[in-house]
Amino acid sequence: MSDDRNRDEQPTAEQGPPPGGAAPDVESPDSPKGLRRELEHYRAVVEEMTRRIRTLEDELEAASTMAEVPSVVVTRPELRNTLGRLVKKVAMIIQAEKVLLLLHQPETGKLSVLPPALGITEEQANHLDIAAEDGISGWVFQNRESVIFNDALNDPRSSKDVVSLLAIRNGICVPLVIKQRDEEERLVDERVIGVMNVYNKRFDEDFGTEDMRLLEMLAEQAAAVISNAQLYIQLTEEKEELQDAFESINVGVIVVNKSGVIRLLNPAAANMLDLPENGYHGRPMEDVITDGPVRDLLEQTLETGQERAVEISIGEEDEHIYQAQTTLMTREDTNEVESVVAIFNDITEIRRVEKMKTAFVSTVSHELRTPLTSIKGFISTLLEDDEGMYDEETRREFLIIINEECDRLTRLISDLLNISRIESGRGLDLNLSDVDLSQLLSRIAANHQPYTKKHQIEAIVPEDLEPLRADADKLTQILDNLVGNAVKYSPNGGKVQIIASDQGDSVRIDVTDEGLGIPERHRDRIFQRFHQVDDDIDHRSIGGTGIGLYLVQHLAQAHGGRVWLESSEVGEGSTFSVELPKDPEAALEQRGD
Ligand code: ADP
Repeated sequence: MSDDRNRDEQPTAEQGPPPGGAAPDVESPDSPKGLRRELEHYRAVVEEMTRRIRTLEDELEAASTMAEVPSVVVTRPELRNTLGRLVKKVAMIIQAEKVLLLLHQPETGKLSVLPPALGITEEQANHLDIAAEDGISGWVFQNRESVIFNDALNDPRSSKDVVSLLAIRNGICVPLVIKQRDEEERLVDERVIGVMNVYNKRFDEDFGTEDMRLLEMLAEQAAAVISNAQLYIQLTEEKEELQDAFESINVGVIVVNKSGVIRLLNPAAANMLDLPENGYHGRPMEDVITDGPVRDLLEQTLETGQERAVEISIGEEDEHIYQAQTTLMTREDTNEVESVVAIFNDITEIRRVEKMKTAFVSTVSHELRTPLTSIKGFISTLLEDDEGMYDEETRREFLIIINEECDRLTRLISDLLNISRIESGRGLDLNLSDVDLSQLLSRIAANHQPYTKKHQIEAIVPEDLEPLRADADKLTQILDNLVGNAVKYSPNGGKVQIIASDQGDSVRIDVTDEGLGIPERHRDRIFQRFHQVDDDIDHRSIGGTGIGLYLVQHLAQAHGGRVWLESSEVGEGSTFSVELPKDPEAALEQRGD
């Protein structure tokens, strides 16, 4: 709007003489009317001259401050601000209404607006995707030559869409060229990254070659700012991504330069060294890393120039084992060592499982051999008794022991087979039927009772409890394991109770003993495979494989149910609870199995 006003006020060649020239000779200059007209005319000329001088001053100031465009732009908002200042200055210097930068997008082959543009709305900018071969912009981009057009509407080269969309009368389009120069300012490389367009010369004038020359100079500056900024932004973003990755990975990473100064120590490494998460960059290694093996590893790698891979243990009580690997970073040109990168992978769990597996193999063979030795011993004794040394009752006792040991073997082998099914990813198929819990629980109590005189095993089931839909064999296996443990881990005897209760949609069975109990720190781990309480001699001296509860958990889950340690007190006993849904199929479906 203000431009139109300016245009109206602007004296033209037809309207009047150039500043300082003679006033129009319409009436006698001596008449009062003529004098007033002459005065008004001169006032207009002076006003116009003042305006032009101000514009010129602005141009000069803008030209002198162009050099103030920061050479290092590192973020996208910074680039936007810098370009915002730049397009304003271009508009001022060239006296254009609209300025826009179009950048070549190699992925789409288009020239797209790089914001901010001046004199056009964001909505218009979004519609200005031009194919890199189309219109004046495309031609300039392809030919690396500037173009002035002073009659946009009738110029066959200008894209009609853009002309009407932006109401363009005239313009200049110059290529954005990145020029790489050597130390002696000789041009070594040239690359076009897009174009700069200015449209609509102010004061209704045409653009001239002087404007074009000026715009080319400004475009070179703009291209340099954009390309530097893009490089910095790319580097900064890559660095940030890398930083985020280092911070979030659970592998410890420490980078120390050849003078022993820390360049990077990520949160996983800080955690490993029991240090607060951040704030190590630039600090001497000896001030931060007090842990002997870690510091030795870094120092030795730097001293010997030899990369190393070792296993180190950190922490006394809750010891952690790390697989540590150092790598030397050298300068590409001189091969001189610059820094050492150390990576620490926590393998505590892997080592623990390995140890447990080894222990498991030996316990299983022991558990298999014990009943076999006993069976073989009693059978041999009976076979060798040709003279009838043993009476009927003793023989029967021997046979009962053989029978019990066979049961023990069968249970162990069945546990092992189930474990191998679970481990190989095959499910535990259910063979569902209506199970009378009163009968099943009583039978289990009765089956276990003959093995012990010190325990009183009883099953308590509400009379009105309806049969439960379950796999009878698997339910037997669950309870055999829990009751077996209750007896096994209460070496001084006591009550073992199997109590069933109706929970509405499910049935709960609690197995309670008065035995050794489970120390607090083992409570949430006893369901892991191979896990055994090894704190006290009582637990350790009782044989076992560490797979019973793991299996019980899987068997309960196969029914859509769960198992947990309800309570435990060291020296006072434990209660394990199983909850099984009355409709296992619906429960499994709901769980998404
Ligand atoms: P295991 O063959 O060793 O008995 P389980 O998986 O059945 O394997 O049990 C894991 C560990 O949990 C046992 O080694 C034992 O230390 C502990 N545990 C299980 N049941 C009881 C219990 N009723 N009382 C005390 N400790 C128990």
